Amino acid sequence: MTTLLEVEDLRVAYGKIEAVKGISFKVDAGEVVTLIGTNGAGKTTTLRTLSGLLKPVGGQIKFNGKSLKKTPAHQIVSLGLAHSPEGRHIFPRMTIEDNLRLGAFLRDDKAGIDKDIQRAYDLFPILGERRKQAAGTLSGGEQQMLAMGRALMSQPKLLMLDEPSMGLSPIMMQKIMATIVELKAQGTTILLVEQNAQAALSLADHGHVMEIGNIVLSGTGQDLLHDESVRKAYLGED
Ligand code: ATP
Repeated sequence: MTTLLEVEDLRVAYGKIEAVKGISFKVDAGEVVTLIGTNGAGKTTTLRTLSGLLKPVGGQIKFNGKSLKKTPAHQIVSLGLAHSPEGRHIFPRMTIEDNLRLGAFLRDDKAGIDKDIQRAYDLFPILGERRKQAAGTLSGGEQQMLAMGRALMSQPKLLMLDEPSMGLSPIMMQKIMATIVELKAQGTTILLVEQNAQAALSLADHGHVMEIGNIVLSGTGQDLLHDESVRKAYLGED
């Protein structure tokens, strides 16, 4: 399998506080890989660093065989790495369709963009039904769909999703997780950060457990799902 993303001994700090303390993992093309762990473990910091929004203090990031060390954030998007951030960051006064178009800001192939907007509507019909409405009128779960749809508009090789299930009802969460499975079936490679370890591990090929800036355990999604320490710490079992 082709390795799409290789992270080696990555370290990231906010001033003197080291939030990521030397983590290594990889994502192969076509896989879903998840990072799980409690609040403050360093998951969001890791994704923001991969997107170029934070500069690492040490380590290597290779995407598609190329080092990202000196690559600015907007070029990272054009290399094929898209980020659907925690908290979604949609533009509430703009229409749903215009929010989606923003995700294609680096593209100029109008026909291709229109086709991908239709693809987002096929994936999330509610977005198509309400395409002319302000995005701020969507529910939390629907805004999450919009954020995912927008990230897909850059035709990413790797889609990074930060806590897509946060604050959603169980039904909406299931819909989002089912969409991740569907995207994988369509060939999208996904790096998923989740606090809902059960949901994330159930669909992931590989997972890594983060605790205070370190990866403390790695394995296949199924192995971690059945690991006793994971079940105790993250799946609420005694
Ligand atoms: P969460 O699920 O709560 O987002 P996380 O695993 O994504 O948790 P991070 O948000 O990456 O964790 O935070 C890792 C550590 O870095 C935490 O101790 C956090 O307080 C600290 N941190 C995060 N952002 C900043 C910042 N802008 N300035 C200083 N410290 C920060």
